[in-house]
Amino acid sequence: AAAHYAPAIVVGSGYGAAVAALRLGRAGVRTVVLEMGRLWETPGSDGKVFPSTSAPDQRSMWFRTRTEAPLAQFLWLDVVNRDISPYPGVLDRVNYGDMSVYVGRGVGGGSLVNGGMAPTPRRAYFSEMLPRVDADEMYGTYYPLARAMLGVNDIDPAWFESTEWYRFARTSRKHAQNTGLKTVFVPNVYDFAHMKAEAAGTAPRSALAGEVIYGNNHGKKSVDKTYLAAALGTGNVTIETLQRVVAVRPDPAGGYVLTVRSIDLAGRVTGTRELGCAQLFLGAGSLGTTEILLRARETGALPLLSEKVGLGWGHNGNVMTARANHLWDTVGADQSTMPALGIDDWDNAANPVFAEIAPLPMGFEHWISMYLAITRNPERGSFTYDAATDSARLNWRRDQNTPSVNAAKNLFDRINRRNVTVYRHDLFGGNRAFADNFTYHPLGGCVLGDATDDFGRAKGHPGLYVVDGSLVPGSLGVNPFVTITALAERNMARILAQDPR
Ligand code: FAD
Repeated sequence: AAAHYAPAIVVGSGYGAAVAALRLGRAGVRTVVLEMGRLWETPGSDGKVFPSTSAPDQRSMWFRTRTEAPLAQFLWLDVVNRDISPYPGVLDRVNYGDMSVYVGRGVGGGSLVNGGMAPTPRRAYFSEMLPRVDADEMYGTYYPLARAMLGVNDIDPAWFESTEWYRFARTSRKHAQNTGLKTVFVPNVYDFAHMKAEAAGTAPRSALAGEVIYGNNHGKKSVDKTYLAAALGTGNVTIETLQRVVAVRPDPAGGYVLTVRSIDLAGRVTGTRELGCAQLFLGAGSLGTTEILLRARETGALPLLSEKVGLGWGHNGNVMTARANHLWDTVGADQSTMPALGIDDWDNAANPVFAEIAPLPMGFEHWISMYLAITRNPERGSFTYDAATDSARLNWRRDQNTPSVNAAKNLFDRINRRNVTVYRHDLFGGNRAFADNFTYHPLGGCVLGDATDDFGRAKGHPGLYVVDGSLVPGSLGVNPFVTITALAERNMARILAQDPR
C-alpha cells in the first residue's frame, strides 16, 4: 500500500477531469487532481500570464528549443517559429511519425489553448458514433448542462456583420454562399461581450490581440475558471501541478496505487512517490489516458484490462486548407482569433464536411481564407506499447487521411471553381495545399462500450474510470469539447449514484 492516500484521484485537468473533480467534490469525496503541466495564473516579466502568438517565448510550448506552430511558413519563409528555452509551456505537439497531435498542458488542459468553439454534434451522427448512449438524455439534460457550466455564448449577429474583426469570416461566407453552401454561427466559450469591449477599447485585448494556441490572457472561459474553480470551491478538491502519473497498479488492500513523478520548471525530476486511492478517474486526454492504461496492461500491472484499450483512435477528420482571394476580397488586417462561423455541408451524404472559417491574424492584409475542415473519415488508428521507451506509439499512416483530404478537396474545389480562386501552397510546408499531418482533435483509444462499459468504467478493474476524450470513437463531426464535457457529466452522474465508495 502507498504511504499517501486520497479517496479519489483524478489524473489530468482538462474537460473530462474537471467534470469528475467537480462532481466528486460536490458529492463530498475528498479528491486530489494530478496535472503534469503548471498552473497558469502568475504573470511573467512582461506582466502577462501567456505569451503572444506573434512573439512566443518559453511559456508557449512544452519543453522545446523551438516552437512548432501549425503554420510553419508564410510566403515560403520560416517566419512564424522562434527559438525558446525548455520550459513546461502550455502547448505540446506530440509527434508520432505520420501524425502530430496538439494538446494543452497545464491546469485546464486543452481549454487553455483551444479556439473555444463549442458546437453540439448532429444528433443523428452522435447516435451513429455512440449508439448505446441515450441521446434523449444527452440532448435533453447533459448537453444543456455542459453548455451552461462551460459558459457557452453566441456572437451578436449585428456586431458580427459590422465589425472589422470578422471581415475575414464574412468574405469566406460570401464565397461559400456563391457556391450554394450554408454557413452557421458557431457558439464559443470566449465571452463575446468581452470581445466587443476589446473592440471598443474598454477592455484589455486578447482575442483581438492575436492570442490563441499559447493561451488567452483575457476573455476565454477555460475550465480553470469554470469547472475547476467550482471544484476547488467545494472544499474537497485539491490540485497538484507538475505531477506526472507514470504508472498504476492495484492495491492488494483495495483501490489503486499510482507512481507519480514531480518535475521542476527546468524539467528535472525532483521526486517520485506513490499515492493510493480508492477510486481512480483518468482524464489525461486521448493520448495520456490511453498511454497510462496501455502501459499498465502491457507491463502486467493491470492485466485484466480490455484488449480494446489502445484501439479506435481518430483525428475527427481534421484537415486544414487555405485559399487565395482576389485583391478586392479583403480579409482585413484585424482578425479575431476566435472562429465564429462554419461552412456546414455535413448533410451532403456523399461528402460531409463541417469547415470552421479560421482566422489568420497577421496584422496586415494577406487575402488568405483559412479553414479547419472536419470530415467523416472511417479510418482508425491504434496505439502499441513500446517497452524500450516506456511509451505508447500511435499507428497511423499518412494514406489513412485520404478520405479526409478528398472530402475537403471536393468542397474547396467547388468554392474555388465558383469564385475563380486558388489554393495557397506556402503555408503548411512542403508546398502542400492541405495540412493533414496534424490534428487538434485526438479522440478515442479507450472507447466507451469497448475498453470501458457504457459509462466509462474500465473493464476488468472496478473503481477505475475513463472520463475524457479517449472515450469518443474517433469522430464527432464537430469540435469535440462540449461532447467530452457532456459525456463526462452523464457518466459521473451514473457512477456517483451507483458505485460503492
Ligand atoms: P485534455 O483537455 O487534453 O486534458 C488532459 C490533461 O491531462 C492535460 O492538461 C495534460 O497535461 C494532462 N496529462 C496528460 N497526461 C498526464 C499524466 N500522465 N499525468 C498527469 N497529467 C497528465 N475543441 C473544441 O471543441 N473547440 C475548439 O475550438 C478547439 N480548438 C482547439 C485548438 C487547439 C490548438 C487544440 C490543441 C485543441 C482544440 N480543441 C478544440 C480540442 C479540445 O481542446 C480537446 O478536445 C479537449 O481539450 C480534450 O479534453 P480532454 O478532457 O480529453 O483532455
